[in-house]
Amino acid sequence: MPALDLPFARAAHYRAAHRRDEPGLVGDLLKERGTQVLVVRGNRVAMTGQGVALFAPDDVAHLAVGLHLFLGEADGVAYLAAVLADAEAEPGLDVDWAGLRALDEPDLEQGLVVEAIALAQWHAVHTHCPRCGTRTEVVQGGWVQHCPKDGTNQFPRTDPAVIMAVTDADDRLLLARGPQWGPGRRSVLAGFVEPGEGLEQAVVRETMEEVGVVVDPGTVEYRGSQSWPLPASLMLGFRARATTTRLVRQEDEIAEADWFTRAEMAAAVADGELGLPGRASIARSLIEDWYGSRIEDLPGGGWQAAR
Ligand SMILES: [Zn+2]
Repeated sequence: MPALDLPFARAAHYRAAHRRDEPGLVGDLLKERGTQVLVVRGNRVAMTGQGVALFAPDDVAHLAVGLHLFLGEADGVAYLAAVLADAEAEPGLDVDWAGLRALDEPDLEQGLVVEAIALAQWHAVHTHCPRCGTRTEVVQGGWVQHCPKDGTNQFPRTDPAVIMAVTDADDRLLLARGPQWGPGRRSVLAGFVEPGEGLEQAVVRETMEEVGVVVDPGTVEYRGSQSWPLPASLMLGFRARATTTRLVRQEDEIAEADWFTRAEMAAAVADGELGLPGRASIARSLIEDWYGSRIEDLPGGGWQAAR
């Protein structure tokens, strides 16, 4: 079990990867009455007032679907995602459309939606063979793109990113604001892992690059991970201890950065001066992990961050 409570890491379905190479899997499942289909439009999913909309195949047979994805099974029910061919076109479905940040769902639906959006995002931007440029064919229930010319297969990507709660010797937490964020919005630092780099090295490097603070690599402690599929990140959460406190911002990435005691952070949140990342983010979990308990937002407070 991860140390953090991470909403998107609570999938309650079975991916049933062994079924992906069944010939005609998607076509067969679309003929089964019990199959449940969720509809993906760009980076959003169909919702009803009750939550994520799950349809019988016949109820969505009229939609212009670009591809179907096999998501897995739960309690003997198979789940597919129908990805609309054109996210801009009027889909002909009387539903609301919501992105990941709006999700407040039981575990099954949350897990299905994160998986569906992650896979759909991969297909949206990976359409041709990276070796020879031929248009690929989608096979294996949406889990493989096959090049008909050279026979190579491409698999969905996940790009590791580190996100870290950096504290100083007095256990103050470093919270920073990105230049594009509104005033008062703060989060912990994050960045992509570079080729040839270990996770601990990435934590140390990103912290140095963004705020000029030295992290002791021996203190980098893994706390949990969660997917953030916009477009393809796997957020790997850490705690780390800094050996310096002087902040030297990388100005194009960090607009403000400060060390906060627990009391200072709580007071700033209560006064509405500080907005923390949204409840679904691993950033929020890392901040609450350091704080020691759940932090209540002001009404209308909190904000929705990818990290
Ligand atoms: Zn090729």
